[in-house]
Amino acid sequence: MKQLKRIKGTQDILPEDSVKWNALETIIRKVLNHYNFSELRTPIFEQTELFARGIGQLTDIVSKEMYTFQDRSKKMLTLKPEMTAPIMRAYQENKLYAASQLTKIFYIAPLFRQERPQAGRLRQFHQFGAETLGSADPGADVEIIDTALSVYRESGIKNLKLKINSVGDPLCRVPYKKLLQDYIRPNLGDYCEDCQRRFDENPMRILDCKNETCTSLNKEAPKLAENLCPDCQTHYDALKKQLHILEIPFEEDPYLVRGLDYYTRTVFEITSDALGAQNAICGGGRYDLLAEELGGQPTPAVGFASGIERMIMVAEAQGIELAPKQGLDVFLIGMDAEARPLILQQLKALRQAGYRADKDYLGRSMKAQMREANRQKTRFVVIIGEDEIQRKEVSVKLMEKGEQIRLPYDALVTELEKYK
Ligand SMILES: [Zn+2]
Ligand SMILES: [Zn+2]
Repeated sequence: MKQLKRIKGTQDILPEDSVKWNALETIIRKVLNHYNFSELRTPIFEQTELFARGIGQLTDIVSKEMYTFQDRSKKMLTLKPEMTAPIMRAYQENKLYAASQLTKIFYIAPLFRQERPQAGRLRQFHQFGAETLGSADPGADVEIIDTALSVYRESGIKNLKLKINSVGDPLCRVPYKKLLQDYIRPNLGDYCEDCQRRFDENPMRILDCKNETCTSLNKEAPKLAENLCPDCQTHYDALKKQLHILEIPFEEDPYLVRGLDYYTRTVFEITSDALGAQNAICGGGRYDLLAEELGGQPTPAVGFASGIERMIMVAEAQGIELAPKQGLDVFLIGMDAEARPLILQQLKALRQAGYRADKDYLGRSMKAQMREANRQKTRFVVIIGEDEIQRKEVSVKLMEKGEQIRLPYDALVTELEKYK
């Protein structure tokens, strides 16, 4: 029969890699906890409408990339392609605002997008991120950026670049869109199809196009950061000032608009040269209007999302060992029928005392079991033979020292402590 394969664009995280994931997730939870964010877990699927309204019908995500299907009751459901809309939905639905005007949430989650498979683009990928809900203060934007950077610092990842921009709000965006359309219109025919489609409804996305022709046509385009209304200008200035106070270096990128429609004012990206120019390790920004878009209370909010696969790629490119190889603490060998129940009891006692311990299950010879213990980089090999049973002892090979000792059967767990 034909062997079944995993779905294209997905990956198995094998044991040698899952230890790195665990190490990273431990760091993420630790740092986010220090910054006083609490974890929120949302379902893997949502009503399709949540993303259509939240992310915007015209974005690539909603128009081309979502895993959308009809369930048996003919409801349209979508595997979540991003986390901001679900977090906002859960925040409103569970009335998290009732407990406090300010809510700080983080998540670690698998996400799904049907992208064309290519290097570094997976159909199931994983992100962690944080969202501060309820504050319009630029200080919340700074804290979000600082939180993301702290996770990378704690992971040992170096040489990251922070790019920031302001995409304004509806007040300054309306006149700016006209300005931008006036600039683009004379050359509109030379832009790519996607950009031509975006021209009327969403010309700002044209600045985000990666097509080379579009990029060069955009070179002299007017910059929104230079056409902000007074309130957006004040917000942007305060953001930069606080980044200076925290000694966080940044670069202003006037054409950074981010892919999603819901951003207002601050947007930012963190990039690593290990990923190539087009791939950010982290992106985020402020989205003060999303809550109302989803039919909830007006809620100013800011957040970031960071790709975990990308973090692991950067860490590997920089030679960072996220999880040192862990060997086995104890391997137990007992060849005689009489030794077997004793091995079973000792194994359980050792495991309960916190040792990573194991035994043979393949009926292998003594020699083969020793080989297995070596392969697993075992520190102590415990042997119970005829002689040991008579004396109520066990033999312990201290593998690092190459010595063999005897310990009383009844006190193995406590005596072994001394050799740890
Ligand atoms: Zn284009
Ligand atoms: Zn404005």
